[in-house]
Amino acid sequence: MKKKKFETEAIRTQMERSGFLEHSSAMYLTSSFIFEDSEDMRASFAEEKDRNIYSRYSNPNSSEFIEKVCKMEGAEDGFAFSSGMSAVFSTFAALLNSGDHIISARSIFGSTHSLFTQVFPKWNISHSYFKIDELDKLEKLITSKTKILYAESPTNPGVEILDLEALSQFSKKHKLIMIVDNCFASPYLQQPIKFGADLVIHSGTKLMDGQGRVLAGITVGKRALIDQIYRYSRITGPALSPFNAWVLSKSLETLGVRVDRHCENALKVAEFLEGNKSVNWVKYPFLKSHPQYKLARRQMKAGGCVVAFELKGGLNAGKKFFDSINMLSLSANLGDTRSIVTHPASTTHSKLSAEERLECGITDGMVRISVGLEHTDDIINDIGQALGRI
Ligand SMILES: *Cc1c(COP(=O)(O)O)cnc(C)c1O
Repeated sequence: MKKKKFETEAIRTQMERSGFLEHSSAMYLTSSFIFEDSEDMRASFAEEKDRNIYSRYSNPNSSEFIEKVCKMEGAEDGFAFSSGMSAVFSTFAALLNSGDHIISARSIFGSTHSLFTQVFPKWNISHSYFKIDELDKLEKLITSKTKILYAESPTNPGVEILDLEALSQFSKKHKLIMIVDNCFASPYLQQPIKFGADLVIHSGTKLMDGQGRVLAGITVGKRALIDQIYRYSRITGPALSPFNAWVLSKSLETLGVRVDRHCENALKVAEFLEGNKSVNWVKYPFLKSHPQYKLARRQMKAGGCVVAFELKGGLNAGKKFFDSINMLSLSANLGDTRSIVTHPASTTHSKLSAEERLECGITDGMVRISVGLEHTDDIINDIGQALGRI
């Protein structure tokens, strides 16, 4: 059959219907599956059959979710996890041995940084960070034990853009596994495998569900690597629940229209902020003033839902701004229908020293807005009135 377009696959990728001929996918809340007879049981455990045995290994709902994301990302195979962090952890843990080394961009999700600095040293797995504007210094970080190159783009919370093609050329030259956390873009805006990534990780908690209901994660990419991740995970047990997989698979049906509107709204908010006198700078990948605007246009379909900006008055102005917000949610999440404002210095990145924060481009007056799907007039009015009070 001819390959269908993204939006069509998101809707029409569906598990086989049951005898009830349900239109929308059924939900299989079952921990295990039964066997016809002893031969069926033997052959199933010997993996001579491609079938469900136990929901820690696979389940029709998680398989449907995985198949959709694979089609969206152009990936061969995948595995679904109970959270984004369990996807990140399990992917590294499955592929690395004691003594191995990771090269990673410094601007990464806070818990991933904690994984590198607090958890992996227990198993003698080390890392080196690079700054996103220092790709020319990558060679110096390579050791005989380097196995993985890791990056996020756009980054959190500074929405900086990394050159995925350049990173993939470097990875290929040094035979590294290139892994991209594509959570901020969603598969609708960017497909890192096209630029040469080997594996792509998502927190399904963000734009994929997009309605703030479930935690989820997924890793997709090259079959040989996914097979290692699958073998590791069926033993260690981080699998996604069938209920959450069902929710996510339904959410993906509307990913395209939701993300289009998120991006449209975010650009309007970014343009509004750029003209405000209380604001030092605004960063949004599709604003012409963004330092990597051209690269963003090349890699992404639109700019995403996150806008970062800096208030002129630093910490004090930040406090006043947050206390004056009426409608927007003060929360650490992102990619929700509800617009959310976060102060990275006092929340998501508070465990870092001030110096470490600056290395990730986080200043005291920096605000991150995840622009939601409310009417832009109301979003901008709320931000505008709060800026007026600082
Ligand atoms: C939220 C997030 C994660 C972690 O996902 P959880 O579902 O919260 O575990 C990982 N990477 C990025 C970029 C994220 O935004």
